[in-house]
Amino acid sequence: MISIKSAREIDLLRIAGKITGDTHKYLAPFIKPGITTKQLDELAYNYIISQDATPSFKGYDGFPGTICTSINEEVVHGIPKNRKLKNGDIISIDIGACYKGYHGDSAWTYPVGEISQDKQYLLIHTEQALFEGLSVIKDHIRVGDIGNKIEAYAKAHNLGVVKELVGHGVGSNVHEEPDIPNYGQSGTGPVLKEGMVIAVEPMLNLGTPDVFILDDDWTIITADNQPSAHFEHTVLITKDGFEILTKR
Ligand code: MG
Ligand code: MG
Repeated sequence: MISIKSAREIDLLRIAGKITGDTHKYLAPFIKPGITTKQLDELAYNYIISQDATPSFKGYDGFPGTICTSINEEVVHGIPKNRKLKNGDIISIDIGACYKGYHGDSAWTYPVGEISQDKQYLLIHTEQALFEGLSVIKDHIRVGDIGNKIEAYAKAHNLGVVKELVGHGVGSNVHEEPDIPNYGQSGTGPVLKEGMVIAVEPMLNLGTPDVFILDDDWTIITADNQPSAHFEHTVLITKDGFEILTKR
């Protein structure tokens, strides 16, 4: 059952989404060579708390951080630690904030200092893949319409689509029905209606789409160690389109 949100729930999801987007804006200037992912995590924690919200991911299935910090070949779910960012890295930061029981969820991949042309290509086209996926959204589309659009864009740009991880509904739980895969066939899957809230989140790799999980049981990395990027917005489906709730 995919829930349709009430006006009150939508108001709270708008606030949670704004806090999530604002946390990205707050963190962005700190993303430089020399800072550790643990320091970024602490900054995010303090900012979210200052907004009368709580971090959605901290303690989720036992995840230890406020944010997920995934560097270079790490796809998602990297645990913040004492690793320093280096010039030329890319880092995906995934943020969830909960306000009065409702969540926002947004990931963005940032360059650290000067990055290679390959990495620039990956970032530009993964961000664009997110907006391509969003572009088809309106009342009564199907889940497969989104995935198909993202997959076609990734294929046209020679990027690997991670299939093991997917977008999702968002509400009083950070992960709700339905799954929103970044691949699929148009006209298939659950119908999406006005008033539903979903997170769309392509994860694209410069090389193989294959991934595996590290011994820490969290961090997902690419099978060929090539870099990966992740861009995500939480959006409200409207009659004629969508509203980005996690605007930055
Ligand atoms: Mg998500
Ligand atoms: Mg996320």
